Amino acid sequence: MKNDVALIECCDYDQQKVDDAITKGFKLLGGIENFVKKGQMVALKVNLVHKAPPQDAVTTHPAVVLAVFKAIKQVGADCFVVDSAGGPYNANFMEGLYKVCGMRQLNEKYGLKINDNYDSFEMEVDGVVSKKIPVLDALVKADVIFNLCKLKTHGYTGISNAVKNMYGAIPGMTKVEFHGRFQSLETFNQNLFDIHKCFEGKLNLHISDAIVGMEGAGPTHGTPRKIGAIIMGANPASVDVVGAKIMNVNPIALPTIKVAQERGFLNENLEFNVLGEPVEKFVIKDYKSITPNGFTPFGSGLPKFLQRWVNSWANQKPVIPCKKCRGCGKCEQHCPQKAITMKTNKKGKRYAVIDTSKCIRCFCCQELCPFDVVKIKSGWFYKLRHRKDAKKQKNN
Ligand code: SF4
Ligand code: SF4
Repeated sequence: MKNDVALIECCDYDQQKVDDAITKGFKLLGGIENFVKKGQMVALKVNLVHKAPPQDAVTTHPAVVLAVFKAIKQVGADCFVVDSAGGPYNANFMEGLYKVCGMRQLNEKYGLKINDNYDSFEMEVDGVVSKKIPVLDALVKADVIFNLCKLKTHGYTGISNAVKNMYGAIPGMTKVEFHGRFQSLETFNQNLFDIHKCFEGKLNLHISDAIVGMEGAGPTHGTPRKIGAIIMGANPASVDVVGAKIMNVNPIALPTIKVAQERGFLNENLEFNVLGEPVEKFVIKDYKSITPNGFTPFGSGLPKFLQRWVNSWANQKPVIPCKKCRGCGKCEQHCPQKAITMKTNKKGKRYAVIDTSKCIRCFCCQELCPFDVVKIKSGWFYKLRHRKDAKKQKNN
């Protein structure tokens, strides 16, 4: 039961259809009362990573948020929308996101509350890699948390869904510090589960908006891909396994799922019940997925210029074409390694330059560039090394 996943068909964002799908999902999971009680306050931890309109499939669609809000109201509970995006965690910055992503409109039209508590709280946690994690105070104060994620590709972790969405529980720029602290995919994913552990007992449900997902250069600059599903469950790892399968990715190849198995979220054979529709109904064979292979540094004993050269063909790397760069400096602010510096050319144009010898390949710069300038390039030896993995990762 705890690991069961409800998979419901919902072909578009027509409000009535989404309302029906969410109602059906709760029924399949034994009723909404299993997750929230009368009088409780629920934090809806949405995905507002980037200032993009709902049709871009970057953020949790407002129709899904509204459907969950209506369901919560029916049991006599209440809720509010909350997230911390890539940028400062304050009212000024977040208001732009609430407006563009359609949350402010839900507030004005339906009275759905929007978080206005911008404090953070240092949570003590008996985690695998973290003992203290600063998190959003609004999440700490809520009685219950529903994680309303979006099914997307992700340049670093391969998939952004239920597990990854809780990274936004870390306030604003502190996320940069945590990327710097956990530089490998293994430790970064362990920390994601440590974040989930901070909210044990109240992080009751994960609802993935997979009506239209994202493929290609996710999580912010990919292409919307119609899937037609909503995935709901109490175990974030089970929800991610279903999401990965829909993207035609072998879940075992995802570092998130490996860590989930180690930590007992899933058994060795990834066994759990899928209620409602069969996963096969939604699998997209040609989904443009991402292989998360992490960074294997080569040539550590070599001089820096040689390290750069070796690693440019043995790994993936972020690339900023200086002609396209708008000089906003957001990548520089969010680089955990201080590997990016802003320069000015003779004509006075600002542009960003990456020192790849410092880069840990977290791809925050690619994720957060507002103008989709940063691209991820794979070196020839990297492609050779991972040719077989890429084939294996596909289920077919
Ligand atoms: S340059 Fe980009 S990928 Fe490299 S460490 Fe900085 S933000 Fe991460
Ligand atoms: S975030 Fe994008 S546009 Fe802004 S400086 Fe960096 S690469 Fe240039």
